[in-house]
Amino acid sequence: MTTLLEVVRQKVGLSVVRHFIGGEYVEGLSGRTFPDLNPADNEPITEVYEGLAEDVDRAVRAARRAFDEGPWRRMSARERAAILRRVAELIETQAEEIASIETLDTGIPISQTARGQIARAAENFHFFSEMATRLDGETYPVDGEFLNYTLRRPVGVAGLITPWNTPFMLETWKIAPCLAAGNTCVLKPAEWAPLSASRLGAILQEAGVPDGVFNVVNGFGEAAGASLVAHPGVNLISFTGETATGQEIMRNGAATLKRFSFELGGKSPVIVFADADLDRALDAAIFGVFSLNGERCTAGSRLFVQDEVYDELVARLVECVRRIRVGDPFEESTEVGPLIHPDHYARVTGYLDVAREEGAEIAVGGERPERLSAGNYLEPAVITGVRNEMRIAQEEIFGPVLCVLRFETEEEAVRLANDVRYGLAAYVWTSDLARAHRVAAEIESGMVWINSQNVRDLRTPFGGMKHSGIGREGGHYSFDFYTETRNVCVALGRHRIPRMGTG
Ligand code: NAD
Repeated sequence: MTTLLEVVRQKVGLSVVRHFIGGEYVEGLSGRTFPDLNPADNEPITEVYEGLAEDVDRAVRAARRAFDEGPWRRMSARERAAILRRVAELIETQAEEIASIETLDTGIPISQTARGQIARAAENFHFFSEMATRLDGETYPVDGEFLNYTLRRPVGVAGLITPWNTPFMLETWKIAPCLAAGNTCVLKPAEWAPLSASRLGAILQEAGVPDGVFNVVNGFGEAAGASLVAHPGVNLISFTGETATGQEIMRNGAATLKRFSFELGGKSPVIVFADADLDRALDAAIFGVFSLNGERCTAGSRLFVQDEVYDELVARLVECVRRIRVGDPFEESTEVGPLIHPDHYARVTGYLDVAREEGAEIAVGGERPERLSAGNYLEPAVITGVRNEMRIAQEEIFGPVLCVLRFETEEEAVRLANDVRYGLAAYVWTSDLARAHRVAAEIESGMVWINSQNVRDLRTPFGGMKHSGIGREGGHYSFDFYTETRNVCVALGRHRIPRMGTG
């Protein structure tokens, strides 16, 4: 019997993954390719054309032409929205297949890609197409003499650079508002997970997006990504990825004065006070850090537990984590699949060595499961005896690894939570309403969830502070980034104009 994995492999492995430029799937100009690996066995799934500066230039020119001369930005918002709604519907129709491709490429369990991530990708198009029809402006009347009003105009050509964790969802999170606002774009997907993005060209074209509006160039960050950032024909860069990459991109884009949106790394705290609903806090803490194989930017990777309940909570945590099912990501029952790539596996397991060297204790997990000798499988790990200044508590591990710390008072919890360079998400568990709000106001992070797991409403601002990012995306925040706000001032009467050159 043919397995689902084999079917997916046949589908995507038929030909080398191409770029999508000017409405066509094209080969790379150099002809160079690189292998895309299956995280479950590290065997190549297929080859991918490696985009270089000349491919990026070709794509930017196509996007520029489509922006300057094409119909996209001249269409009414309603027309664009109707096309983008069709994109959402096509994603919904193909959801099972896209989820399989994504699972094959990333190792994220099928139960999480199929149900969560691909549905969310479709929702991104539904949501931003509707938002685009509701964009409004402001007016500033000036004493009957003038009327100022604002217009939202598309910015131009956007470079969208995305990471390998939940690639399809994150790509559509950028593409949908970018196109809804009337821009055109070039997407540079992550080199470790380019497969689902390769479906987008066909989907958008079938939905009616004009040629050149949406382009994809595959390749490595240092070549394809850097060329996109430096290209003078690109006006704005929306980047999601590591903080160090964001810093490099900012330097590289300075000469052409790019507009940036940065969604970067995190080391988000989960603070559990003794008066919390411990059952719910525990479930949310475990799901928050171990779902998506722990490769989640908003993972609550530092768990702070108040003294009185520390022993009980940690004992229950360890027991639960021991029972998490690690295995084939295509098995419906699998909860944690293989990590994306052997290099990333080495990085994550390297942090487990650091934990041991720093004197912390790996209370459970952190080993390769015996029955899974190939691929990047790792048992989810809980590390106790952690001090906040340790590297494992300060640096983003981006894998299924949870550091547990103890605190006594609210002030201490806030101080420890903030004593890190990141500031993306935070989670607070308490039944004391006033304390919940106090802590939410004091924590240095772009988003705080109180007595809640990471549930998102697409209208709300998503993003981080400190080294976790610059700017917010979501709702009208995305349109603040993807549009120029233009002020128009109209004289209503004959105001005084100062005269020069009258002798
Ligand atoms: P990464 O920074 O290595 O790569 C991200 C993308 O940038 C890839 O497409 C890569 O090819 C490209 N890139 C690399 N170097 C580049 C350069 N010099 N110029 C232009 N592009 C370049 O990140 P990753 O390992 O793919 O993803 C994991 C990281 O992403 C983690 O730090 C995670 O926290 C972060 N992340 C953040 C969010 C968020 O919303 N804040 C969401 C998901 C992931």
